[in-house]
Amino acid sequence: MTASERLVEYLHLTVNTAVVVHDPANMFYLTEGYRGEGLVYLTAERRVIITDFRYTEAAEKDAPGFEIVMTDKDHPAGKRLAEICQQDEINEIRFESNYISVDELERMRTAVGEEVSFVPLKKAPQLLRQIKTPAEIVTMRKAGAITSEAFEAVLGKIRVGMTELELRLELESAMYRLGAEALAFHTIIASGVNGSLPHAVPGARKLQKGDMITMDFGAKVGGYCSDMTRTVALGEPSPEMRKVYNTVFRAQAMCEAALAAGKNCFDIDKIARDYIDSQGYVGRFGHGLGHCVGIDIHEDPRLSASCHDVLKAGMVITVEPGVYIPGLGGVRIENTCLVKENGSEPLTTARKELVVL
Ligand code: ZN
Ligand code: ZN
Repeated sequence: MTASERLVEYLHLTVNTAVVVHDPANMFYLTEGYRGEGLVYLTAERRVIITDFRYTEAAEKDAPGFEIVMTDKDHPAGKRLAEICQQDEINEIRFESNYISVDELERMRTAVGEEVSFVPLKKAPQLLRQIKTPAEIVTMRKAGAITSEAFEAVLGKIRVGMTELELRLELESAMYRLGAEALAFHTIIASGVNGSLPHAVPGARKLQKGDMITMDFGAKVGGYCSDMTRTVALGEPSPEMRKVYNTVFRAQAMCEAALAAGKNCFDIDKIARDYIDSQGYVGRFGHGLGHCVGIDIHEDPRLSASCHDVLKAGMVITVEPGVYIPGLGGVRIENTCLVKENGSEPLTTARKELVVL
């Protein structure tokens, strides 16, 4: 079954109802490959990409099974959509209320006319995207392997005096050399005292002996992301930072071991939080434990104190506890994991034991 068929079935789409999608991640998912601009129109009977000259050839290649309708200056997207809705006698459009702007909604309403009602899609494509297909898992496994290999490749290049920005360049070129088509997100490099900033932006700080260095990075392959964090030590770390590392390492391992279909997101998060608190770091793990990953780097559900969703087999989710101590530094260890019926499997497989360079 194709992704667009899954959506039609999930929504029990009746005749005269169409789905209109603008979010690039949802368009990519539903067309199984289209990466251009425009919009996707779906009914039980018909699949259309409405786009302009720049993308029509790519759309034909990347989305077989979809009709491609080209816009031009006299026929903008709204007009094309109105023509198609008229042909199909559409009286209801399911739209992405979480994505399009009020202005865009108004433009669509004006174009298709008052007789068509607009009903929120309620993130139905995102819900389907939560469970990865075997083909998606194959792709995400590749993205994870490239990310893991890039980590190993960069270890031999980390030197005292090198800046965080130079290290980022090494890490990112390693991912590209290994086959990444893009970066899944902006690479985080946080060295020494910068390590207490969970989302540190790499800068001109030079690496020093005794630093812990946190690297949070991921390759994008075939449209899918991976996400991994490793913290390494440049020279022997202080006993205090070693204790921080061991705490995060244990917390991460415990949560990864607990991850399985049927478990509640809240409970997995609590394992890490309770353990980190018990080691004397109350309040030092100030973010959620993890997030799902897929076409987007951050997808739902989340492993957090505010998410009570139940994990299902086929979800791909990160497990990333951290401890951050201002003025001292921080440690985070993160794997992207595939949730299975009776457990989980990391898709990022680089070693997690402390590497002392
Ligand atoms: Zn990350
Ligand atoms: Zn993450």
